[in-house]
Amino acid sequence: MQQQEQQAIGALQSLDASHHLHPFTDTLQLAGRGTRIISHADGVYVWDIHGNKLLDAMAGLWCVNVGYGRDSIADAVAAQLKTLPFYNNFFQCTHEPAIRLAAKIASLAPVHMNRVFFTGSGSEANDTNLRMVRRYWDLKGKPGKKTIISRKNAYHGSTVAGASLGGMGFMHQQGDLPIPGIVHIDQPYWFAEGRELSAQDFGIKAARALEAKILELGEDKVAAFIAEPFQGAGGVIIPPDSYWDEIKRILSKYDILFILDEVISGFGRTGNWFAATTYNLTPDLITIAKGMTSGYIPMGGVIVSDRVADVLVNEGGEFAHGFTYSGHPAAAAAALENIRILEEERLVDKVREDTGPYLQARLRELCEHPLVGEVRGLGMVGAIELVADKDSGARLPADMGAGMLCREACIEVGLVMRAVGDTMIISPPLCISRAEIDELILKASQALSLTF
Ligand code: PLP
Repeated sequence: MQQQEQQAIGALQSLDASHHLHPFTDTLQLAGRGTRIISHADGVYVWDIHGNKLLDAMAGLWCVNVGYGRDSIADAVAAQLKTLPFYNNFFQCTHEPAIRLAAKIASLAPVHMNRVFFTGSGSEANDTNLRMVRRYWDLKGKPGKKTIISRKNAYHGSTVAGASLGGMGFMHQQGDLPIPGIVHIDQPYWFAEGRELSAQDFGIKAARALEAKILELGEDKVAAFIAEPFQGAGGVIIPPDSYWDEIKRILSKYDILFILDEVISGFGRTGNWFAATTYNLTPDLITIAKGMTSGYIPMGGVIVSDRVADVLVNEGGEFAHGFTYSGHPAAAAAALENIRILEEERLVDKVREDTGPYLQARLRELCEHPLVGEVRGLGMVGAIELVADKDSGARLPADMGAGMLCREACIEVGLVMRAVGDTMIISPPLCISRAEIDELILKASQALSLTF
């Protein structure tokens, strides 16, 4: 690279350091090296500004489901911006892209869910859920039902309500969270927290923590339970098979609404349009974002069951809630084209029938590495647990920063993986081919060898 180009990159990094406050970034860790600037992308690959090509096994932030470089999405957005760049969905108005998108999503959602409330992000969607469930119980004449039960180490977003619904202790410490009315139970993380029991027994035990919490608070105080089908940002934590059936039993016994946060799992990641189908769940509300537009334009939403919608619509009058960009026309155009691509290329079916099982089988080969304690995953999502001792699952010393070292080694070999502590996680674009999965596994194993 020419000296002039190097200087231009250095200048850009220094502008970034001076003026750009990044989300979830420890800026002091960057001293002397600067942020990694990504310049362009195509398919499952991104290139940094130095020209290094990286296989993006995280699909950005779990969102670029159809892969990068889809001109037809860019064209659909451009056409929409030229026709109607903005109009709101407030005050009895709307526009065609929002109408068509709501109908399209309803056609893909579980049969008992037929309406969609649009937001700008997953966090806003979870804020919406909180307001919607409280409104629902008010209208049902049970205003005492206000508390929402969530799980430790869950991620539900970064707004005040989103971070409160989430169960990330380090987020709660910054800013006196959670807000009142939100409580957390233990997570179903067998590998880290349940190995003294069989996975199935632990799944039942983890689910019964919900029942214990409902009984402690009183059923007449509990509005809803919120959960991701598998915890994504917490480390791709897949509950034991016994977990969800027991949760379903408890929710129906005590008449508690169920919010399923499918911001990561929605739009195909588990091999069905929604993980509700994969796990045979019947949520009252589903949170969506990310794969909805494959991240080409920000958008989120809540898919609302008939049970909740009928009360809001028929008994509630105006629901005093919404965002300027709820159902933004350009975002809706991006989402419609994104869904068209997913359907035309049968990407969801491919994840279920072909590339998903292939990825899972190949990923498990990494278990042979002496420091890999567990590999888990489903569909197009996976986790690799780095441990000191395979049998006991004992953790590596925290000050070693094994996850971070492995993440950097991945970059060296041309791969983007994310580290959650010492858990390496992947969530590739759904369009990834078998050959690209082979490349991913080869690079992951090279990175493991480089790290240890
Ligand atoms: N819910 C889940 C499960 C998520 O993974 C995320 C983001 O990663 C969110 C909610 C928040 O979405 P957003 O970042 O669009 O606000």
